[in-house]
Amino acid sequence: MAEEKKKKYKFDFQIKTDICMDCATCWYVCNFEGGKGAVVVNYNGGAYYAIDKELCSRCGRCARACPVNAVERLSVGEGA
Ligand code: SF4
Ligand code: SF4
Repeated sequence: MAEEKKKKYKFDFQIKTDICMDCATCWYVCNFEGGKGAVVVNYNGGAYYAIDKELCSRCGRCARACPVNAVERLSVGEGA
C-alpha cells in the first residue's frame, strides 16, 4: 500500500467536531451518493464523524451537503 503511487491533493476535507451535530448526511452522501465511503463513524457513546484522508477523493459532496457547514476545506499543511 505504501509502495503504491498515491495521488497528491492540495487540500483536505475535515469535519469540525465542535460544529458537527452528527446528522449523518455527509456519511450518507459519501457512502451512497457518489463519494468514496471515506466518512467514518466512531461510536464512543455518541457518534463522531471523521474523514479518512486516504480514501477521500475530495469530491466535496460532504461539504456541500452538510447543513451546518461543519466540513471545512483545509490547504495541505494548514491543518492537523
Ligand atoms: S469529499 Fe467526497 S469522498 Fe471525501 S469525504 Fe467528502 S463526500 Fe467523501
Ligand atoms: S453532514 Fe455535517 S453535521 Fe452532519 S454529520 Fe456530517 S459534518 Fe456532521
